[in-house]
Amino acid sequence: MDYQRLAELLFPNIDKLPADIEAQYPRRELPEGAKVTRFAPSPTGFVHFGGLFPTTVAERLAHQSGGVLYLRIEDTDAKREVPGAAEALIKTLSVYGVDFDEGAILGEDGKVCDKGAYGPYKQSKRAHIYHVFAKQLVREGKAYPCFTTEEELEELAAVNKKEEIKNTDWQAEAEKRRAEMLARREFTMEDVEAHLAAGDPFVLRILADGDPEKKTKFTDLVKGNMEIPENDEDFVLLKSDGIPTYHFAHAVDDHLMGTTHVIRGEEWLPSLAKHIQLFRYLGFKTPKYMHIAQIMRLDEAGNKKKLSKRDMGANMDDYTGMGYCPEAVCEYVMTLLNSNYEEWRMQNPDKSYREFPFNIKKMSVSGCLFDFNKLNDVSKNVISKMDAATVTARVTEWAKQFDSEFGALLESDAAYAEKIFAIGRGGKKPRKDLATWADAKPYMGFFYDELFSLECGYDEKYDRADIKAALCGFLETYDEGDDMNTWFEKIKAVGASLGYTPDMKAYKADPSAFKGNVADISMFLRLAVTGKLNSPDMYAVMQILGKARVTDRIMDMVKKI
Ligand code: GLU
Repeated sequence: MDYQRLAELLFPNIDKLPADIEAQYPRRELPEGAKVTRFAPSPTGFVHFGGLFPTTVAERLAHQSGGVLYLRIEDTDAKREVPGAAEALIKTLSVYGVDFDEGAILGEDGKVCDKGAYGPYKQSKRAHIYHVFAKQLVREGKAYPCFTTEEELEELAAVNKKEEIKNTDWQAEAEKRRAEMLARREFTMEDVEAHLAAGDPFVLRILADGDPEKKTKFTDLVKGNMEIPENDEDFVLLKSDGIPTYHFAHAVDDHLMGTTHVIRGEEWLPSLAKHIQLFRYLGFKTPKYMHIAQIMRLDEAGNKKKLSKRDMGANMDDYTGMGYCPEAVCEYVMTLLNSNYEEWRMQNPDKSYREFPFNIKKMSVSGCLFDFNKLNDVSKNVISKMDAATVTARVTEWAKQFDSEFGALLESDAAYAEKIFAIGRGGKKPRKDLATWADAKPYMGFFYDELFSLECGYDEKYDRADIKAALCGFLETYDEGDDMNTWFEKIKAVGASLGYTPDMKAYKADPSAFKGNVADISMFLRLAVTGKLNSPDMYAVMQILGKARVTDRIMDMVKKI
């Protein structure tokens, strides 16, 4: 077969050679050990939590090593493309600390444009490049055209489907397909000419030289050493419209763009043999691969399930509405990514996560478990370290967008709101009440008369006369100017006069000797003043509410009992 001629027949308009293209993509001048990584999404929807995960790895590895992180839009499947998805995902990732040095970026007009010398960064704009390499593969007898029609392919796919469902003799069917494919390799130049003259569409297939009985040794940086069967499937490189498949496009792009580490989901692992073969055929150095396990979640029955698109927590855009701050989400991602992160955080409470020495070897080989409880814990920690002014500003900003009534209340007196958020903040052991900005309202809404309500009543076990007497007794001596000690001593005295001991030790030793203890008295006051059984420090609460409101609320309660 005259492959040179075949190549000319198939790609008459391609006059460049791979060397011409290579010359346009010089090697990157980077310091020793610098990693070049990329995020290569198909613009088909929102950013999934499982997408933020490998992207954070890519970001850390690139920036930690003085390398480059770039964004490539893999839009070769026009049917699945969602308009605006590329723009939206750039914005979302930026919220979570993933900013690209190069690649598809947002221009001033809000549309995606290219930045950097290794573009175009949208695969749909690179057809001419893929064709140069495709032509070369044909020239070298490593790829061939296949004129199977769409209908024939559909028929094959239908057989596949049926076989899968019945799961009968799948092996035999695969063998049959392979034989058919091999038969198609045997064509004459006249066949090709006739097809082309008739305007028949063709796909370009690789001429696979692998033997699945043989295994290739391979080291994935996450999964470790593995042996993968060689590829013998003549997979498609170019579809009939000339658009490349992911396999072919990523090999050409990652090579030309100088990617050192391909970081992607483990769903690509089964295709790895194809990719290794392709890099070899193209004469490219294979990049290092890191296949990241799927994020899992526990279902109601406690079984591990893949965190799917529709699961709560999957769509990164939802986190904003739920009131999570991006710093907390990033912090949580880091705890999932490296097993020693939490230990590092304890030793370095005030450092940015970017100072953590991220280590590929500390990554989980099997899937990480996504867990809202853990995210909330991490988030409470992160927020507890913020100062009152920051929390006030950020809760207000969030509320204005997602809870306008609450937003207006906060905004009407920012200094008052800041006093509330300052309770228990600062110091060695700050309060950890807020996991999200949305938690602020239930936590501190009672500070606003408009939002004050009783969450519950007093337990039946308490004598109503005692409650009344305690509330009234407190008001008799309450002085706003008292320091915390004096204030508490007065509460103790009121309790003691009613048979509720201030001596916790004595109470524990013999509870039957008392009606109760000072904690009960505090609870009587807490429920009256805040409407809740749990609240921030009552002394601070009363100071902020002011004597008039404290008195009103206690008197209202007295009337109700
Ligand atoms: N476009 C591919 C995807 O969205 C990218 C995989 C990769 O990172 O190479 O799954």
